[in-house]
Order: sequence, then structure tokens, then C-alpha cells
Amino acid sequence: MDQQPASSGPMTGEAPSGALAGSGRSDLKTTLVNLIPPVTLAAVIAFWGLAPERLVEAPWTLTIVGVAIMAWLQGLEFLFERHEGWRINGREFLTDVFYVVLTYTVIAWCTNTLAEAPLHAIKHSLGISTPWLAQLPFLVQAAIVLFLVEFGQYWMHRAMHNWFPLWLTHAPHHHITQLNALKGAVGNPLELFLITLSVVSLFDFSTAAIFCAVSMGGVISGFAHANVRSDPPLFYSFFCTTIRHHSLHHTALSYEDTRCNYGNSLIVIDRMFGTYREGESAIVGQDDRKRLSIREQWMFPLQPLIKGYKARRDRSAAAAG
Ligand SMILES: [Zn+2]
Ligand SMILES: [Zn+2]
Repeated sequence: MDQQPASSGPMTGEAPSGALAGSGRSDLKTTLVNLIPPVTLAAVIAFWGLAPERLVEAPWTLTIVGVAIMAWLQGLEFLFERHEGWRINGREFLTDVFYVVLTYTVIAWCTNTLAEAPLHAIKHSLGISTPWLAQLPFLVQAAIVLFLVEFGQYWMHRAMHNWFPLWLTHAPHHHITQLNALKGAVGNPLELFLITLSVVSLFDFSTAAIFCAVSMGGVISGFAHANVRSDPPLFYSFFCTTIRHHSLHHTALSYEDTRCNYGNSLIVIDRMFGTYREGESAIVGQDDRKRLSIREQWMFPLQPLIKGYKARRDRSAAAAG
């Protein structure tokens, strides 16, 4: 079970009434800050649940909501910083923005062309039809979509930590040395593509429910990477991944210690499959905690080939003289 941080302020012995009032105010503030993730999630669900169809179908709505969520999270980092060591700077921010743009353009195109379109074709050729799904209550549909996406991501992420060729694509994400609002988008492009794969296109959910699930994932995994000192209550953190869960997944302790809390948004899947671990980490990074440049992140999967080539070159140079 999650341990919430102890409430602040001495509550025993003689305390001036002003100090007690101050402590009460800081307790209230902590409680309100802790509620920001669930309130944001509720706002996003309400938006998609109430949005008129023409707004849902408009081509830019999903993107605008996604960018608004990221801007909100980035703003919260300035107001309610969690760790000074994770404070955003110009280099980190520009790198993060580069990956967000990449995700919304190249990665989105690859996902549509290489995964979604073939899945649609398979759906039609097999005659798969599930119009009854779109008749389910909106929130039930959104929850099923989120679970389907997260269930696939959980096993893909777990495979990335268990199979070396896949780890080579995911390791750059673990080499980040601080967590921030947009860091969920940072990684090798192969990983960013693989992690988008899902079976949702095989089913006939309403567009609003699918977009709602996408935005919910953006809010939850955004908060799970953001340098914000919100520790949401158990009604949220039992199901949804928080910064505590995900910072532990990014721990710099050792590679073995990262093999827990795989759920990108739904930590409840880790609870189901025995990979949940309690705790958090303020120090994140991989191996020697060296920050990788974008070039190093992109070349990372080729490391064994480059190392092998250099070793062969050194051996032949030694033999020659
Ligand atoms: Zn990981
Ligand atoms: Zn992460």
C-alpha cells in the first residue's frame, strides 16, 4: 500500500496558536496539491464526455488537448517543485520539446501507416464488427480503451526490461538524469514507435471515448514523469501510476532495481502481475548516470555493433604492430 507523506508541523506539546494555524494551512495546501492529478483527470474526462461531436471530430482537438495538458504540467513544475535537482533548464526543455514534436509528427505517421492502417485492413477482411461497444456508457468505453492500451504497453515495457535487443531501444529513456513534465516522450524512436502499438483499432469504440483514453494516459503518465510534489490519495494511486511509482522505476540504484512498476498509466496492472514495488527515488539515471545527447539516444541500439567493430579494429591493430 502506498505510504502518504506524514503531515507537516509539530502537533504535540505547547505550540502558539499562530503556529497551529500555520500548520493547518500547510496541511490544507498539501492536501490540495495532492489532489491536482485526480482533479486534472476528472477535468479531461468531463471535457471529452461533454464535448459536442463537431469538436470531437475536428482534426486539431486531440492535439490541442494534449498540448494543453503538457503546458499545465510544465506550469505546475514551477509552482510546486518536487526536487531541486530535477529543475528544468533550457537544454532539457528544448530536448523534451524536440521529442514531443517528433511524437506528434514522425512517430504518429509511422503508427498510422505501419500499425493502425494494417489493423483496420485486417479488421475488415476478417469481418470483425463490434458496434455494441459504442453503445456502452462513455466512461466504461474510455476505461476499456485505456486498459487495452495499457495492458499492451505493460507487456511491451516488461519485455524491454527482459530481452536485451528490446532493452537497447528502451535504455535511452532510462538514461535521462531528471524527471520532468515532457520526459515521457524522450527515448529512442524505435521504442517510441513500439510503445504506441495497441489492438484498439480492431474494435468499434466511439471516437470521443478513444480520445478521452488517450488524454487520460497523457495526464497520468505526464504526472508520473513531472517534477511536481503531488502525492495523490489511494483512490487514485491504487489504479494510476504516480511520480513515486515511476521515479522508483527510473532509480539509479541498479538495472535490477528498475524491474518493477512497468505500468505507464495503470499501476494496478503491476499490482495484478506481481511487479508492483513501493517507494520512490530522487536520484534517477542508468549506469554511470551520464546524460545522453539526442545523437547518442538514436545510436544506442547500435552500441553492440559499434563496440564489436572497435574491438576487432583494436585487435588487428595490436596484431599488426
Ligand atoms: Zn523502463
Ligand atoms: Zn519514464
